[in-house]
Amino acid sequence: MSAIRKVAFIGLGNMGAPMAENLIKAGHQVRVFDLVEAAMHTLEQAGAQRAATAGEAARGVDVVISMLPAGAHVRSLYLGDDGAPGLLDSLDAKPLLIDASTIAPDDARTVAEAAAERGLDYLDAPVSGGVGGARAGTLTFIVGGSAEAYAQARPLLEAMGKNVFHAGDSGAGQVAKLCNNMLLGILMSGTAEALALGVSNGLDPAVLSEIMKQSSGGNWALNVYNPWPGVMEQAPASNDYQGGFLVDLMGKDLGLATTLALESRAAIPMGAQARNLFALHAARGNGRLDFSSIQRFYRPGEQDA
Ligand code: NAD
Repeated sequence: MSAIRKVAFIGLGNMGAPMAENLIKAGHQVRVFDLVEAAMHTLEQAGAQRAATAGEAARGVDVVISMLPAGAHVRSLYLGDDGAPGLLDSLDAKPLLIDASTIAPDDARTVAEAAAERGLDYLDAPVSGGVGGARAGTLTFIVGGSAEAYAQARPLLEAMGKNVFHAGDSGAGQVAKLCNNMLLGILMSGTAEALALGVSNGLDPAVLSEIMKQSSGGNWALNVYNPWPGVMEQAPASNDYQGGFLVDLMGKDLGLATTLALESRAAIPMGAQARNLFALHAARGNGRLDFSSIQRFYRPGEQDA
């Protein structure tokens, strides 16, 4: 086990709460803060100390971890807004800063630079693996920042995840995460499209899935996350697309990937198609369903949510 660390954990939502719990289970001393009272109460019962503000949570700790919805929240936490100082200007020590939220690489670099100006290390460390991975402690962390800060963070990240990668300098974790999720969006919609074509032409979706799995079209969606209801018992498709990874979150990540592509003048014709497909699917009222519900888009007669 890694050395016991004093950790401030900010943002106790679907992902942050189970991640913080895993740190407590690993023996670390965790002080928590969230805007939602109930979230802090649950963590207090699990053995965390609660704080009245993010600044109070971070007082005297070795490491600050944040897990917030989007870039605006991360900028506001660390840099402040509306004249209120951010965490960077209210720390009494020099903890390692780790942000595990999925945000634009530019936002991550902005915070990292501001941190460096104050002699602080900041890592972007977005995760893959969803709420199930957060609970089971099997997340994949994709880290951007200096090699020294990465080496320092690694034991702590291993208390919450199974795979930890160093993608490169600041922002690289976010870039790699967005590349992965863009590919996931493309693969899931492509898989749904192929299944619908086969079924429209008389094939059994389970038989077709097995054939493609063992052939050159094989991919992660077919292996563990089949989008056709009833083919895979444990998949969200077999539970009315409840649970899993929300269409709205896939839409967020594809939006970030699109912005990244525009800024870097990279062509992403497939990613752009996937982005539009998921945006349309969300606009039809499916935003809170699992993202494999994109299958419904291709099934004649299937109702939207
Ligand atoms: P969530 O909305 O469930 O949780 C976010 C939490 O942050 C909420 O509890 C909210 O009250 C809190 N918060 C917001 N602003 C705050 C502030 N200023 N100070 C303190 N707390 C604040 O979101 P989530 O599903 O836990 O996702 C968190 C991040 O992880 C997002 O960036 C998301 O894209 C990413 N992510 C999510 C999943 C998933 O499956 N849910 C998977 C991978 C990555």
